[in-house]
Amino acid sequence: MLRYLTGIQPTGPLHIGNYFGAVRPATELQNKGEAFYFIADFHALTTVHDPALLREYVRGVALDFLACGLDPAKACFFRQSDVPAVAELSWILSNVTPMGLLERSHSYKDKLAHGIAPSHALFSYPVLMAADILLYDSDVVPVGKDQKQHLEITRDLAVKFNETYGEVFKLPEADIREEVATIIGLDGQKMSKSYGNTIGLFLPEKELRKKVMSIVTDSIPVEAPKDPTNSAIVSLYKLFATPDALAGMENDFRAGGIGYGEFKKRLFEAIWEKFTPMRERRAELEAKPGYVDQVLAYGAAKARVVAENTMSRVRKAVGISG
Ligand code: ATP
Ligand code: MG
Repeated sequence: MLRYLTGIQPTGPLHIGNYFGAVRPATELQNKGEAFYFIADFHALTTVHDPALLREYVRGVALDFLACGLDPAKACFFRQSDVPAVAELSWILSNVTPMGLLERSHSYKDKLAHGIAPSHALFSYPVLMAADILLYDSDVVPVGKDQKQHLEITRDLAVKFNETYGEVFKLPEADIREEVATIIGLDGQKMSKSYGNTIGLFLPEKELRKKVMSIVTDSIPVEAPKDPTNSAIVSLYKLFATPDALAGMENDFRAGGIGYGEFKKRLFEAIWEKFTPMRERRAELEAKPGYVDQVLAYGAAKARVVAENTMSRVRKAVGISG
């Protein structure tokens, strides 16, 4: 049976990119194998420095994930920091991590370009991510394309470790769904919680409408034909619409006579409808006192057992115990 693992940072409410890139594949895979899904709060410390906000995001992301169909009876769902052995493993892996490998990280450079301070933790983010994946002996990691390079780094570190200390780690594979590999945000760049360009899954109606209406477009006038192939509106609509509705929008783009505002309305309707059942489910879960804490505590207890097993192999291999 394959083991699936994925993590999401509590750096803000989940968005459409997270949903299609990671959450939906994860909820499908929980029925196919052994799933380990976690909220990456250690990782979030790289960008969130407000403790109250971090707590709020952890709870919010947990509810978002559960509302989207994560079943805690099937998947082991936990908070990363509840298994602190991951930080120990990260340190151990740092010792087989060439600087050059991290210096080439696109995600690091991307975050700097967005004005995030270049801390040591942000730089070594991929090492902690490798620790997450290797600690749970993961076979498959469902992620968006932005994480492809991090998965390659994880494999490199596992190989290097195994060459140095003997076969300890499995080599994981990324599961990247090509049709949803990189969802673009309001500004046409990769949608990211920390870039302020997201469309949240569970925004109230008015706010969702406002977000969708703020998608950046060119200034082609209403009457003129428009190019559907380069449009953020069409590329987002594709994720929600039936093939007929999509073809309808593409034709209307080419025909001219309809402004971007109208297309954005169609997109808004489609998003609102898609997440309505999940929005209702989220409200139910949110109203259950103690529910999130219980779920995460249950998951952490299971995760710790697996983690301890791996760590005893690792400690023995490197010579810090046994
Ligand atoms: P942050 O800005 O804090 O890095 P994020 O929005 O990039 O947040 P992460 O928590 O880093 O989200 O990533 C969670 C999962 O969502 C990962 O598997 C990642 O690949 C996926 N993901 C994030 N953004 C997108 C996107 N725009 N398209 C597809 N998948 C995405
Ligand atoms: Mg990210």
